[in-house]
Amino acid sequence: MKQSQLFTKIRREAPADEESKNAELLIRAGFVHKEAAGVYSLLPLGLRVREKIENIIREEMNALGGQEVHLSTLQDKALWEKTGRWSDASVDNWFKTKYKTGGEAGLSFTHEEPLTAIMTNHISSHKDLPVYVYQFQTKFRNELRAKSGLLRGREFLMKDLYSFCHNKDEHEKFYKRAQEAYRNIFKRAGIGHLTYLVCASGGVFSEFSHEFQTLLPVGEDVVFLCKNCNMGVNKEIIEKVKKCPECDGSLGEGQNAVEVGNIFPLGTRFSEPLDLNYRDEKGIKKLVFMGSYGIGLERLMAVIVEAFSDDRGIIWPENVAPFKIHLLVLSGGDSPASEEAEELYKKLETAGIEVLFDDRAVSAGEKFAEADLLGIPYRIVISEKSLTAGGVEIKKRTEKESKIVKISEVQNYV
Ligand code: ATP
Ligand code: MG
Repeated sequence: MKQSQLFTKIRREAPADEESKNAELLIRAGFVHKEAAGVYSLLPLGLRVREKIENIIREEMNALGGQEVHLSTLQDKALWEKTGRWSDASVDNWFKTKYKTGGEAGLSFTHEEPLTAIMTNHISSHKDLPVYVYQFQTKFRNELRAKSGLLRGREFLMKDLYSFCHNKDEHEKFYKRAQEAYRNIFKRAGIGHLTYLVCASGGVFSEFSHEFQTLLPVGEDVVFLCKNCNMGVNKEIIEKVKKCPECDGSLGEGQNAVEVGNIFPLGTRFSEPLDLNYRDEKGIKKLVFMGSYGIGLERLMAVIVEAFSDDRGIIWPENVAPFKIHLLVLSGGDSPASEEAEELYKKLETAGIEVLFDDRAVSAGEKFAEADLLGIPYRIVISEKSLTAGGVEIKKRTEKESKIVKISEVQNYV
């Protein structure tokens, strides 16, 4: 894409009302727009990043055998009353609204109820199980604390998968596979080395639920990692366990972390009130055993920004970067550098490499500063100077020094 065509502009100043690093950088670089506290719109660059994340997650969910759906965000009150989750006393972060024709609707903060109800139309026999269903859908949560930028939105996109199994054994096998899929996702998103599987409270049929926690100073959670294995424990249950639940090893000091994903054995918590059951081989009626598995996409994007930035801007890991290459041309008109840049841009695009081409008539200093703020992994500079030196200057966002590479060899370096 040519940067002269990109409508978003870089902001020099940090937005006055923004306290968090992730939102400040994403707003300044034009990835997102802040509508209100905890409410953000995605602009072209931000959407590209979220789509990269979404595609990584989709691949891993499909590999698990997940089938993608898209449920409504407007929620039927009657359904949620059946599970006891409609009242504000049981769920404190509902957004609710009214139909003009009378009656109330809720804006989805999760989707166990509607999906379980849908599945009653499709599951009746043991032959219909197991089944795994997922979606990418907006969640609305009337969060009290919305000061962490995109880490805690009042509206955000969640990947939520729900598993429907015959019994606990079958569920547990899938649960382990889902853990591996989550590990792959966080590894591919570049935060694998910072992210740990942690036991948390809230297990319905088993003792624990599990969270994936990324170690970061801004994290609202505190986790204690096992000194022996890679498991951790969330502070909220530390009194209950004291040692590592996995290997009995002793636990280290508490560290701040952000919950980037969680997985939850639900058992029959929803299948019972919503009457989701099947007949086994002998014709005996049984309740379906469920699990749920969530990841917040903008939170993951914000975690990446919090983990990878310096005083000049963002440093995107390659798999989630909006573009792979930022091509900067430092002289305009029909100079040789400008012609070479146009040609290289076309060649890279034809090769299927994503390039943001800074073809604007602005100063070199401005282009460099903006490139650092945007954080695209490879910066390629073409100028009269670089051509004289033998080609283009290539530099990774993570490196200090650039090197001269012949134009014909650029593709061997990126
Ligand atoms: P938290 O403890 O941080 O409030 P949660 O336990 O309420 O999160 P879940 O309801 O399990 O979270 O949601 C699943 C996933 O959705 C979380 O692991 C997180 O990645 C994401 N998520 C939850 N709340 C938010 C939010 N307000 N903004 C962005 N992402 C969120
Ligand atoms: Mg939680």
